[in-house]
Parts: sequence; C-alpha cells; structure tokens
Amino acid sequence: MPTNSTATTPAARITSATDRASSELVHAWLTTGADRIIAASVQLTELDARIGDGDHGINLGRGMTAVRQRLGEVRAGASDELLRMAGRLLISTVGGASGPLYGTLFLEAGQALADAPGTPVGLADALSIGVAGVGRRGRSTVGQKTMLDTLVPAVETLGAELRAGHDLAHAATRAAAAGSAGCEATRAMAAQRGRASYLGDRAIGHLDPGAVSSLLLIEALALAAAQPPASTPADTRR
Ligand code: ADP
Ligand code: MG
Repeated sequence: MPTNSTATTPAARITSATDRASSELVHAWLTTGADRIIAASVQLTELDARIGDGDHGINLGRGMTAVRQRLGEVRAGASDELLRMAGRLLISTVGGASGPLYGTLFLEAGQALADAPGTPVGLADALSIGVAGVGRRGRSTVGQKTMLDTLVPAVETLGAELRAGHDLAHAATRAAAAGSAGCEATRAMAAQRGRASYLGDRAIGHLDPGAVSSLLLIEALALAAAQPPASTPADTRR
C-alpha cells in the first residue's frame, strides 16, 4: 500500500465515534459519487457536446478516477481532509471550468468542516460554504444554467431537513429530490455562464451537464447515508 502524508495524518485525527461516523460517511459518499460520475462519463460528455465542447465527462471522469484511486488507498481519514484531498485532486487533474469549480466546492467544504462538529448538520453547513465558494469563483448564481442550479437547492434542503429533526438519510433523499428539480429546470434556461452562454437561446431545451454531474454527487450522498457503516452510532446521524 502506498504511504504518504494523506494516508497517515488524517486517520490519526479521528478521536471519537462521531469523527469516525463522519469520516466513514464522507469516504462512502466520495467513493459512490466518483463511481457514479465515472459510470456516467459518456452521458455527461454527450450533454456537453450539445451545448459546450463535449469534454465534461472526460474531464470529470479523469478527476474522479484519481479521487477513487486515492480513496482506495486512504481507508480512513478525517472527513475534512478527505474533502480537501478530493478538491486538490480535482483541481490538478480536471481541465476546463468544472475542475476549479468542483475543486473549490470540496476544498472550501473541507476547510469549513475542519472547524465544524462531525455531525450531519456540520457537514450540511460545510457543504453550503463550499457551494457559496463555487458561486464566488464562478461569479455565478442560481438560474444561470450551471451546476449551482442543482447544488444550491440541494444543500439548502439538506440543512433545512436536518434542522427540522430528520435524520441524514431522509434529509439527503429530500436534498437529492430538490437537486433533481433544479437540474431539470436548467432545460428551460438559456445559459449565462460557461461555454453554453455563447449559444444564447440555442441552449434552451438541453440539460446543463454540470447540473447533471452535481445531481449524481448529491444522489451519492443519499445512497451513502442510507447505508450507515457498522461503526456508526445511531445518535450521531442526526
Ligand atoms: P468547460 O466548459 O471549460 O469545457 P466542463 O465541460 O468540464 O468545462 O464543465 C462545464 C460545466 O461547468 C457547465 O455545464 C456548468 O455547469 C459549469 N460551469 C461553467 N461555468 C460556470 C460558472 N461560471 N459557474 C458555475 N458553473 C459553471
Ligand atoms: Mg466542456
């Protein structure tokens, strides 16, 4: 097994059952998300061929393959460090607009999670900060036919459902439904950011590829949350 600093240091920072539950959830989420994006890379590229330059699945598939490989090496890791690891890898391996944007999402969420409790609400708040980072970096907001049309309603719903007292599996399922509605709404939009914006009204009628890859990630969180790892105490999942 390869040894490097990311493989040893984060695991040493897991000091409680809550830390372990958070770490296992984030590991499972990133693993599932990477697998789903890799499996959908042809479809994502086809979507991008319609309104962009036809590389979204190739770009992101390459990045997620690197993330997947590293996750296989790093069995345990503090959840914030796992997110930052994913962010760094995506920035260094994915070209185009989506690499720095997804990189920002995971890097900023990881940074925020380092100072947050290792609870689902802590994760939801950290993801909100990551999504805000995407908007800042892309100078973009909801309604412009981008990944934010999925991510913003999804993370808002995630936080709201958790704060209403629902457990993570329920909240993440609702978040995925909100993300799906947001993603579907991109079909009717003209793009105001990214390459699709060059098409004007000709982008109308097509889903935004980044909104679809973001939905795969959010759905992966729901899948990971629905399969709690054996070491997760019930009281840390709320
Ligand atoms: P590129 O457009 O450079 O080829 P990709 O094809 O990998 O990059 O990614 C395209 C996706 O990136 C779009 O579908 C959109 O969701 C997202 N995107 C592009 N620009 C922005 C932006 N300014 N803000 C948010 N998301 C963006
Ligand atoms: Mg592209």
